[in-house]
Amino acid sequence: MQEERIELVRPQMGTSRALTVRRYGKAGQGPKAYFQAALHADELPGVITLHHLETLLKEADAKGEITGEIVVVPFANPIGFTQYVDMKPLGRFELRSGQNFNRHYPDLSAALIDAVDGKLGQDADENVKLIRAELRKLITQHRKDVSPLTDLQDLRLTLAELAIDADYVMDLHCDWEAPMHLYISDHNWPDAADLSAQIGSECSLIAEISGDNPFDEAFSRPWVELRRAYGNKFPIPMATLATTIELRGDRDVYDEFAIPDAENLFKFLQRRGLIAGDPGPLPEAKCDATPLSGVDRVSAAHGGMVVFGVEAGAKVKAGQELGYILDCETGNKTPFSSKTDGVLYSRLGIRLVVPGGYLCSVAGDKPLPGREGQLLLSK
Ligand SMILES: [Zn+2]
Repeated sequence: MQEERIELVRPQMGTSRALTVRRYGKAGQGPKAYFQAALHADELPGVITLHHLETLLKEADAKGEITGEIVVVPFANPIGFTQYVDMKPLGRFELRSGQNFNRHYPDLSAALIDAVDGKLGQDADENVKLIRAELRKLITQHRKDVSPLTDLQDLRLTLAELAIDADYVMDLHCDWEAPMHLYISDHNWPDAADLSAQIGSECSLIAEISGDNPFDEAFSRPWVELRRAYGNKFPIPMATLATTIELRGDRDVYDEFAIPDAENLFKFLQRRGLIAGDPGPLPEAKCDATPLSGVDRVSAAHGGMVVFGVEAGAKVKAGQELGYILDCETGNKTPFSSKTDGVLYSRLGIRLVVPGGYLCSVAGDKPLPGREGQLLLSK
């Protein structure tokens, strides 16, 4: 294992921040996997999961069983780690700009299509090598083009540079109150069905473009666009499987969850040839993929407090009462429900709500009208 400390741009006099990066195995000896946790800095289940995964990786490393390259960034957002307001950690948005730490990653698709023009051949493996070399050059150039960088831009680009040539990009997040679920490109499905089954995902949401360039899409979309541009002339595999794994709710920081989660990620790496050994049989899948455009985001009809009647992870019916909003001044008590049958995979983590405020999400198996374009929460 090699450990590296990458100093980030100093945002101000008297300040400094750094990323820790640990590498297992050797570059180029096999597939590459990239893991990061807590890009939303207050989402800690991924941090404890990577802690346990690294214990397994160190054991495998000592036995010479790492057959690929595994890069781990155990905490991906030292900027967000220090943001507190009124004793509460605020790790989703940068306080200075208001920007979501998991949006606005570079989309290199158009530049990549130009960069490989006239260079592709009929050997798929050679094409992948060439495309990855171009991606590395493009992101280096992108850093120069947007300089001088803020510390937030530097953080985003540094993480993207570490992941740009990986076969597997695993961005570990969590929701407020939720079962295990994941987001992935529809072009990575059904390839990722084994990952979904192995980690016990209860809701696997697929979309090609979910809006505002989240981290994982920076690595899957270039392959999608390249295949669209050249796929009828040259063999170009969907070479990068990039996903956002939501490790339940933000308070689900327990060894009881994290140790089995780490073991499941380890088994996935074994199954995909990055670690020697038998991962055992694949567990039965708890869900099939469903479209992100089939998610009904249920919102509050008026302000007040929300009283949920259904647990996160429950399978619900369209029109079923999921809880109610209570306004104790007017006495209004307004039940709410979903437009679709499906899994209630996300529930608000606070109970005081504003009119139109988010309450919960239900994933149906068919696209809903009007759910095009911006599929994730914006900003
Ligand atoms: Zn997150």
